[in-house]
This record gives sequence, structure tokens and C-alpha cells, in this order.
Amino acid sequence: MMPASKSHPTANLSPETVVVAAGRPPREPDAPVNPPIVLSSTFHGAGIPAPGERVYGRFSNPTWDPFETALSELEGAALPALVFSSGLAAVAAALSLVPTGGILVMPRHSYQGSLLLAAEEAANGRFAVRTVDIADTDQVLRALQGAEAGPDGGAEPASMLWIESPTNPMLEVAEIDVLARAAHDAGALVVADNTFSTPLVTRPLELGADVVLHSVTKYLAGHSDVVLGALATSDEELHARLHSYRSLHGAVAGPFEVWLALRGLRTLALRIERSQATAGLLAERLLGHPAVEAVRYPGLPGDAGYERAAKQMNGFGSILCIEVAGGAAAAEAVAGSVRLWLPATSLGGVESLIERRRRQPGEPHSVPENLLRLSVGIEHAEDLWSDLSQALAR
Ligand SMILES: *Cc1c(COP(=O)(O)O)cnc(C)c1O
Repeated sequence: MMPASKSHPTANLSPETVVVAAGRPPREPDAPVNPPIVLSSTFHGAGIPAPGERVYGRFSNPTWDPFETALSELEGAALPALVFSSGLAAVAAALSLVPTGGILVMPRHSYQGSLLLAAEEAANGRFAVRTVDIADTDQVLRALQGAEAGPDGGAEPASMLWIESPTNPMLEVAEIDVLARAAHDAGALVVADNTFSTPLVTRPLELGADVVLHSVTKYLAGHSDVVLGALATSDEELHARLHSYRSLHGAVAGPFEVWLALRGLRTLALRIERSQATAGLLAERLLGHPAVEAVRYPGLPGDAGYERAAKQMNGFGSILCIEVAGGAAAAEAVAGSVRLWLPATSLGGVESLIERRRRQPGEPHSVPENLLRLSVGIEHAEDLWSDLSQALAR
């Protein structure tokens, strides 16, 4: 029987195996091989609750445990991950770690929702935000130390560094280890949104981040059928604060969604292997296409992030962006004439999605109007290519 301890039973296995093996029920006669969905809002108990006792469904649910264990093992966290009702609920929890009156340094091409929430906190006077080009290490270092005047006037060192790598949708690659060291020197916490990479491609905790964040909605669940988020950390104090935030602010996940996410996670390695290979192939072919002005993909040797990505990532991810010749209208026309690719927002599912990001009113204006973000799924590469070619030929 597998010990029901908090140690990592899959610690010496490769991540491709961990996604399959982690979070299984104990090996007992007649036990299910998959964890059950537990639909109960409350749990037996009397007297003063012992530490770790479930008590009530806003504090814990047995269906969360296997997913939280699996994600924690994948990210190399010493404590179980914390699942949330959405990626943005996890973002809100992580931002709660910025002290009141503190300073958040954030990539100017972060996920739109993260930028909007940080801007709202700043507008309410909770903390100040300095946005940076996260690929420009010197600029980030200056912003961390306060040498660069932000809207807050500069001078004060930062309290939190937010990292996304590659960024959404510009696919800039951050030098995570160098930035994390500098942030800690400045006294700042480091949160890394690892949604685009997944732990199979980048492991931010190993590179020095304090907290890693996921929109589980994307690759981890992988089938565009749930909205969920998660955080993972090895720091006891941060874990306790984030756990308490989740219980008190109430953005908890439904058991069925978490069960679906664990089911999706089982095939993560295969999905990533296929979608990364196809993304690389499409990026190379699109590079020479007359209807394409630019291709952004860190796996292209000519890309600004190539060398950093080759060192830091295991592969180059499954998202690529193209800038279509002829401006916004031409880009919209491409997104409107694909037949296999789905014109829709989001990413990380088995089906390939295409979106002109600037159609979203809140998208930063430094994102080109003619930029299409391509989330490559697991369809046959040649089918994806021929559909894209016919749409670009119009
Ligand atoms: C989608 C996304 C989020 C937000 O997650 P939701 O599950 O939509 O709430 C945060 N960060 C990144 C990078 C994302 O792609």
C-alpha cells in the first residue's frame, strides 16, 4: 500500500510519468484506480477541529487533494498546490501578498485580466504598479530597485515581481533565475504565471520563484471544458496565507471541475509533445509566407527569446503569433476564413484556436493590431497547415 503521507511517491520519476501516476488512491484491494468525486459540502466532526480536519467544503474537499498533489509534484513544490475556482481567482490570491502601500513590478504584456486587476488595486490605492518589458533584464532590475521612476515616483524598492514567460501574447522570454535573485535582493516576492509553459516546459520554483500560478483552464485541464486556477509554493508561511485567503474570500473550485482537470492532466505530456512539435513546424513555414509580416515564436533561431528559451525551457511552447500583412482587417479576415482552426479566445486545449488579440478592448496597445495568436492543438500538423494556408491565401 502506498503510504498516505505528504512525501512525494513519484519524486524520482520523470514528469511524463508523474502526470499519469500522481494523485492515485492507495493500493488496496478493490480500491478504485481513479479518485472519486466527493459531493459533500460538510464533513463529520464534533469538538474543536484538529489541524487538517476537513470540516467544511470551503476549506477543503477530498476531490481537490489528488489534483493538488499532482500539480505540486510537477512543479517541485514541497507543499500541496492550492486549487481555485479560476486562474484569475488565483491571481487575486497571489496579489493579496503585496503589502498595502507596496509596489508590484509586472510585465506590460501580462495576461490581460492580471493587468486589469493590478490596475484596479492601484486605482484603489492598495499598491503601486510598475510595468516593464520583462525580457529587458536591466530594465526589470532598475524597476525592482526603484532606480526607475514609475507612476509611484520610483525610489522605493519593489515588494513583488510578477513574471510571465513567455508573455501573453507577445511571447517575450524572461530570464527567470536572474530576475528572481534580483527580486529577492530587493526584498520582493516572486510570482510566476506558468500557464503558457506548464511544468513540463518551465519549472519556475526551481529557477527561484516563490509562488507559481496556473490558469488550469488552459493546458493542465486541456479540453476547454473547465475554468480553474491553482497556486503552488514551498514556503510554509506563504502557503498558510494563500490557503487562508482562499477559505475567506471563497473562490473555491467545484469537485467535478477538479476531477475533470486531473483527468485532463493525465495526457498533458502527450498533448504538449504533439502541440509543441506542430507549433515549431508551423512557425518555420509561416516565416517565409508572403501574407505574414512577422512570426513570434521563441523556438525560431531568429527570435529575440530563442537563446534564453533554449536554456530555460524544455521545448518552446505551443503558442505562436503572426502579424498579418494588411493590418487589422486582414488579420480579422484570416481568423474569419479558417475552417478547422476555431476563432475563439483562450488557449491550451486539444483544439487549435486563433484570435486577433486586439479585438479585446482591454488589450495593451503595444500589441500590434494585426497580431493573431495561435494556440496549437493536437490535430494533424498538415491539416492545420493547409487550413491556415487557404485562409492566408485569401
Ligand atoms: C487565462 C489566463 C489567466 C486567467 O485564468 P482564468 O482561468 O481564465 O481565470 C491567467 N494567466 C494566463 C497566462 C492566462 O492565459
